[in-house]
Amino acid sequence: MKATITVLPGDGIGPEVMAQAVRVLEHVAGKYGHEFTFQEALMGGIAIDKTGNPLPPETLRVAEQSDAILLGAVGGPKWSDPTAAVRPEQGLLGLRKHFELFANLRPVKTYPALAGFTPLRPELLEGVDMLIVRELTGGIYFGPSQEQGDGDTAYDTEIYTVPEVQRVAHVAFRAAQGRRNKLTSVDKANVMASMRLWRRTVIGVHEDYSDVELDHILVDACTMYLMTRPASFDVILASNIFGDILSDEASVLAGSLGMLPSASLGSGKFGLYEPVHGSAPDIAGQGKANPTGMILSAALLLRYSLGLEDEARAVETAVEQTLEAGARTADIASGSGSYISTDEFAQTVIEKI
Ligand code: NAD
Repeated sequence: MKATITVLPGDGIGPEVMAQAVRVLEHVAGKYGHEFTFQEALMGGIAIDKTGNPLPPETLRVAEQSDAILLGAVGGPKWSDPTAAVRPEQGLLGLRKHFELFANLRPVKTYPALAGFTPLRPELLEGVDMLIVRELTGGIYFGPSQEQGDGDTAYDTEIYTVPEVQRVAHVAFRAAQGRRNKLTSVDKANVMASMRLWRRTVIGVHEDYSDVELDHILVDACTMYLMTRPASFDVILASNIFGDILSDEASVLAGSLGMLPSASLGSGKFGLYEPVHGSAPDIAGQGKANPTGMILSAALLLRYSLGLEDEARAVETAVEQTLEAGARTADIASGSGSYISTDEFAQTVIEKI
């Protein structure tokens, strides 16, 4: 197959991990007979430096003509003045909005080789393999909000409409069908009207997916179950704010922030794929970055935007085998253990593919 991929390396360790994901994709293309064209463009701090705009129109033009976007990370101390008129994160929000990417998918898996890096007992981590689907463009982060002039009162408003919940629920149910056919919808239906609408709507969408087992849990209970029985979850569906909090909590299960990928999808196949971590300015330029989250994001791109499931699995299996073989970047090397560079780690993944 032929595909065009927009590459936005961004800032800090973004370009370092991106180079590895592109190498992996080039290797997959060669091995499976595909033709991938990579178009690099500016986004984030580097785009501010070069054009004054974190998301230049040229970047949007390039992205519109591609099948998917791969993003490294944006931001860093150079652009972190909260009073600045332009900030790197505006580029990311702008991209999500422009392409109406309303579903954020974050798979969380534990690797037995890394069990020692999580604060949980190893037996609780056995078989943890979940996908969190977070609604990304609605809810309380986008509802009317205001800080009153007197400084004593402020409010934010959670608003959801039935179509908004339906479209993200469809994404979650379809994802469950490709996994273990189990969906847990998280809400706070006991106290919030918006969350009663959420639950009612998810129950309605379930009628189209009778092969998927659906249950509902309250968000407070979910935070507890993520730590006490994480292996019981398959797909978790949550609103914007609850998904934000739960996915960060669940990231602890993977052992390092550098391990986690994400996909942001809209109604079609187009998607934005990026690691969960930021630009890690503290280790930028030292060859210490773990490229796993970025490489696994490229695997999600193969799966969701290009429909190449075998190729996606080949990359994921190669990452597992790389870890099992003992390859470690600095963040996942034990105290006195030796570690290899970002490039060497990716090279091992490529050899395993
Ligand atoms: P961060 O994720 O960049 O780093 C947190 C810690 O994790 C650091 O110690 C870092 O060294 C480590 N780390 C992160 N990724 C790693 C990797 N791949 N391999 C090894 N170690 C890794 O978060 P932060 O320090 O809070 O933020 C730094 C900058 O990144 C800020 O400007 C922030 O706004 C930005 N940020 C961007 C995104 C994004 O682009 N989507 C997300 C989060 C933060």
